[in-house]
Amino acid sequence: MAPLAHPAGLTLHPFAARIGPAMKLYNTLTRQKEEFKPIESGKVGIYTCGPTVYAYAHIGNFRSYVFSDIMRRAFEYLGYEVKQVMNVTDVGHLTTDRDSGTDKLELGAAREGKTPQEIARFYEQAYFADAARLNILRPSIVCRATEHIQDMIALIERIETNGFAYSTGVGLIFDTGKYHDYARLGKLNLEEQQAGARVDIDPQRHAPSDFALWITNQPNHLMQWDSPWGRGFPGWHIECSAMSLRYLGERFDVHTGGIDHIPVHHTNERAQNFAATGKESVSYWVHGAFLVLGDTRMGKSEGNLITISELENQGFEPAAFRHLCLTALYRTPLNFTGESIKSAQNSLHGLLDFGRNALDWPESGDDSWLTPYRNEFRSTIADDLNTPQALAVVWNLIREGNKRQARSAWKTILDFDRVLGLGLEELVSTTSEVPDQVRKLAAQREQARTEKDWGEADRLRDRIAELDYTVEDTPKGPRLKPQP
Ligand SMILES: [Zn+2]
Repeated sequence: MAPLAHPAGLTLHPFAARIGPAMKLYNTLTRQKEEFKPIESGKVGIYTCGPTVYAYAHIGNFRSYVFSDIMRRAFEYLGYEVKQVMNVTDVGHLTTDRDSGTDKLELGAAREGKTPQEIARFYEQAYFADAARLNILRPSIVCRATEHIQDMIALIERIETNGFAYSTGVGLIFDTGKYHDYARLGKLNLEEQQAGARVDIDPQRHAPSDFALWITNQPNHLMQWDSPWGRGFPGWHIECSAMSLRYLGERFDVHTGGIDHIPVHHTNERAQNFAATGKESVSYWVHGAFLVLGDTRMGKSEGNLITISELENQGFEPAAFRHLCLTALYRTPLNFTGESIKSAQNSLHGLLDFGRNALDWPESGDDSWLTPYRNEFRSTIADDLNTPQALAVVWNLIREGNKRQARSAWKTILDFDRVLGLGLEELVSTTSEVPDQVRKLAAQREQARTEKDWGEADRLRDRIAELDYTVEDTPKGPRLKPQP
């Protein structure tokens, strides 16, 4: 392929490895879209708050993991070397944020008559199986909380040595009052919290925002370890601090998670990191918004949870759900309705339809017309992962590709799919385009048209429509499409 002129006058090979344009991300800490500046040039360290493996992850959870996957893919597409670390929480995540309540893993164990370990391994495996069906790339490092207890104890010792902890009957408690900037990430009003605090589970606690680093005196808890503070288990927040600092260092680039983590979990992680290291550990806190089902968000407490398997049973491919996620900016709420998933599926099928058509077209000579689309796609995903706009670029490209009957348009879309992650290449080759019955009706209609039997041709068109397909007459013959 001949080198193309770059708008700035430089000459670049269209697929030359280069970093850029600069990534911009909305940083929850500053409440602004900021230009991404890596700690180490050309590299990105991302910590993704991972699943608590006590039940099947639902599509609300997966919207968040699709978002972090898009981020990782976008950085890679822009030329960065990405190290993505994700935890698997298999102890210490309680059913409330107040260090009371039950460990979710033990809840799962009681529910299913298994050990917490059996529950954890089963649902971890289920999580990764579902994630794979959504083309969520496996993070570079996956770390289980129960395998990092010593890292947590070592980090808590640093926090204690630096004067940020005290003991109560519950265990070792983080003293949020010692961290001057505690409220910033969550924009918390601590005075209001103090005033509104009801009788606490732990009356020795200094402030309602203080939280447990290490929980003791729970003889019925099945998972326990020895520690300088007695036999017990870690708080959920220390898990993420210990594992992110261990694998990404005391300063790292990006921390992702759902917006529900901002006021407590991530606020506490940030406080712990500062207490242990004296540093602002994370450069960019980036949060994904909820998937909204009807009028409520899809959290585990809402009931009515839909899994990837349930979607499949209703006839929706995992890629249709992934496509739905792409239709909204990651930090705006996304409505999940029967209509929205159906419409996402239709768009996905439209993409595949284009791919199948394009594969019949010849390779064309001059592909320079594709360059503006490539540039626009790059700058769109670099602009705070603007996937709805990226899809618009794809559809504009399809319109032009259809006009030109250019196979290279499809190749370009497959290149974009390195970020979108719909798995288009595989779907085109593994899914059948149109049911045989529809194909036969179309052939009969073609016959009727050749015989100029317009009445019969119209009748057959209606039969095809009843089967949810439309027939389009093109210079190369009829094309069947699933109805939008
Ligand atoms: Zn976390």
